[in-house]
Amino acid sequence: MKIDPNVIQELIAQARKDAPEETCGYLLGKDDEVTENYWMENIDHSSEHFSFAPKDQFAALRYARKNGLKILANWHSHPASPSRPSQEDLRLANDPTIRYAILSLYEGVHLNSFGIRDNQVVDKEIHYSEDEKK
Ligand SMILES: [Zn+2]
Repeated sequence: MKIDPNVIQELIAQARKDAPEETCGYLLGKDDEVTENYWMENIDHSSEHFSFAPKDQFAALRYARKNGLKILANWHSHPASPSRPSQEDLRLANDPTIRYAILSLYEGVHLNSFGIRDNQVVDKEIHYSEDEKK
């Protein structure tokens, strides 16, 4: 999966704005290329987990359909932990047709996406990596 660099900057800005809470959304695009971020409210308002607001999910689906876009991934931020799925993330990753992206603000900025099957990571792609300047 490719992600437009402008979209990556948007994700970083959104994650920083909502920190210390996790932020979340859908990555929309065509074929294998993400062209848009769709922000969704984290109704848990937590720094350790997230749940999409159902009204935002419905609106996102409508928006995607209207604009001929597909949901390529679901993404969320980890404000204070690395860019890899937590046990809970794995448990909740039930859609094998999309990828799961995690933007970490821990020790720099790192964005990876994962294919998850049967609650296990089956592949990982690195989309952005910037280590903390010491
Ligand atoms: Zn997580």
